[in-house]
Amino acid sequence: MTEFQRICLVHYHEIGLKGHNRSTFEMRLLKNLEALLKPFPVVVIHRIAGRLCVFLREGTDWTTAKEAADVIGKVPGVARVSCGFKCERDLDEMTEAALAAMAEAGEFDTFKVAARRNHTDFATGSMDMNQIIGSALCAAHPEKSVKMKKPDVTVGVEVVQNAAYVYARSLPGVGGLPVGSSGLVVSLLSSGIDSPVATWKLARRGAVCIGVHFSGRPQTSDASEYLVDDIAQVLERTGCIARVYAVPFGDYQREIALTVPPELRVIMYRRLMFKVAEEIARRERAGALVTGESLGQVASQTLDNIRCTDAAVDLPVFRPLIGTDKLEIIAEAERLGSFEISSQDAPDCCTLFMPRSPETHAKLPVVLEAEAALPIERWVPEIADAAEVRDYACPAYKPKKKRAS
Ligand code: ATP
Ligand code: MG
Repeated sequence: MTEFQRICLVHYHEIGLKGHNRSTFEMRLLKNLEALLKPFPVVVIHRIAGRLCVFLREGTDWTTAKEAADVIGKVPGVARVSCGFKCERDLDEMTEAALAAMAEAGEFDTFKVAARRNHTDFATGSMDMNQIIGSALCAAHPEKSVKMKKPDVTVGVEVVQNAAYVYARSLPGVGGLPVGSSGLVVSLLSSGIDSPVATWKLARRGAVCIGVHFSGRPQTSDASEYLVDDIAQVLERTGCIARVYAVPFGDYQREIALTVPPELRVIMYRRLMFKVAEEIARRERAGALVTGESLGQVASQTLDNIRCTDAAVDLPVFRPLIGTDKLEIIAEAERLGSFEISSQDAPDCCTLFMPRSPETHAKLPVVLEAEAALPIERWVPEIADAAEVRDYACPAYKPKKKRAS
């Protein structure tokens, strides 16, 4: 039997809707895939007929191709990924490649052939190709049957200018847009369950994410910083996160706790966190902040308190989980792969100097009056300067040159 070159075809539909921006989006996805597929034997990735085609080195085995497809499917912007082969534009070759692809499609009963030709210089039309290749497959596999609507397996045949691509095993991708196509955001990243999911949601919509983590250090250990590093490494697998700023926050919380009425402490901590995150966003030239808040989940997440923290900053604050239940967030964290890490206990600034009964309906004028007793203006750049920065592999991110402030 002929050894065909293995390929992974990457399908994206949303990108297809972007009109003249399309090629920019495709290039972004191509670059992201190139970087994330470094550990795999990839020869080249090309744009072919409204898809990206990942060409694997001759002799690549099925297991490796399958692993590459699994990585591809998790990259934002990928709607579907198919494993298959490149072959000659010849009906016998295409049939042979289709049989080889079918053999690797797992257990199934029903199938159909979906052929497309990109160039009419190939004499056989797509309907005829469906017919001819379909009958040959039926003859070779009498135990399988053809089903036009919702078959178990669709055997794709794409004939382009100088080659044909044939595949059978397809898996759904995560969808969304390629990271780097929607700008840069700063995400408040705790070691909890919610904020990694919130970060991932923005990344899936094409934003490069920069994390800011407030550690209780030096009043607590640095354990939460290690968990956040583990979480960032999960996000790094799909090219979502560029860096994390770890901010020692414990001493400032202590000052706040000593100065403001106990019930206002949490609001003060959070307003200061937002301001520091905004300062880091300014330095990174990011366009928005992101949090993992969900309405009413805890005392600081009531409508009144959200308004009071939002008022601390000018940048828009995105809360992609605002209407999501905890159980739904947990399910997403499991899918993302961050849940186990987030379930470990580590004291961060959230557990430090907590009042017995925090305000649940803060009034902005009262908050501002209490805050006036604190040297916030001096603190914000000081805290941002003290942050430790850790970089992660993010193909879409270019570090900003320092500019005079
Ligand atoms: P999470 O599971 O994300 O920690 P949570 O349910 O514990 O959320 P809060 O502690 O009120 O809720 O935090 C709300 C949001 O504020 C978090 O989702 C995160 O975006 C931000 N945040 C909280 N603590 C920190 C921290 N230590 N460092 C950075 N951001 C934080
Ligand atoms: Mg938390």
